[in-house]
Amino acid sequence: MYILENENFNIYRFDVGNEGRNYQYIVKCNETSECVVIDPLDPVSLLHFIRDNKLRVAEVLNTHGHPDHIGGNNPIIKVFLDSRIHIHREGLDFVAPRTVVIDEGDVITFGNQSISVINTPGHCPEHVSFIIGNNIFVGDTIFLSGCGNVKFRGDVDVLFDTFKDKIRTLDDNMNIFCGHDYAINNLEYALSVDPNNKAINDKTDKLKKSDEALSTVAEERLYNPFMRFDNEGLVTNLKEKYPEMNTDGRSVFTKLRELRNNW
Ligand SMILES: [Zn+2]
Repeated sequence: MYILENENFNIYRFDVGNEGRNYQYIVKCNETSECVVIDPLDPVSLLHFIRDNKLRVAEVLNTHGHPDHIGGNNPIIKVFLDSRIHIHREGLDFVAPRTVVIDEGDVITFGNQSISVINTPGHCPEHVSFIIGNNIFVGDTIFLSGCGNVKFRGDVDVLFDTFKDKIRTLDDNMNIFCGHDYAINNLEYALSVDPNNKAINDKTDKLKKSDEALSTVAEERLYNPFMRFDNEGLVTNLKEKYPEMNTDGRSVFTKLRELRNNW
């Protein structure tokens, strides 16, 4: 488990250990015993941790309604009878009971802490991200050196707008907490489309030496091809290989996603 300690709250990241390499999260208020659970999949590991640390789950937050991000919801709200499931309206059909609809600009409070909601659709229509301090929980919107697929109710045009208008405008110092660990595969893919980018090799070397895949918005700007759809070197390299491709950001992003699907 990776732990990020802050003065007011701690973040606990659990590797589910499944084939999909999911992460699930607990954010704990350090001034009370309250916590929120984000994208629970394996309720057993979460409930053990919650019991051992004498925590109380105030709310369950879902970045989106895919089964591997909501699978642990119900066992948790059955134990903590005041807690509710928070999801965007477009994802409401996937969860029950005791739900709260969330949307851009909403603030969710627990203990003495608050988490704000931004809409980040594209991987699926209901996708949101959660911000607390300089940390963002992005679900399957952006991964270390990658982005979510658009296979299950997704739309690459909408995802591009989310990257352009939301993800790329986040503060450089923001820590990114994503929904899966695909880091090594993603970096290999990044190198295939951006072969002269030394930052990709540097991050790969760093990851191979450490147990934990971590990144910030500033780092993603350096090596994530989906953040670099207007980077001259990357675009030139793609254009040489795929002369039919238009070179505007949307076309490059769409091509990058299509190539990643077949990677
Ligand atoms: Zn998903």
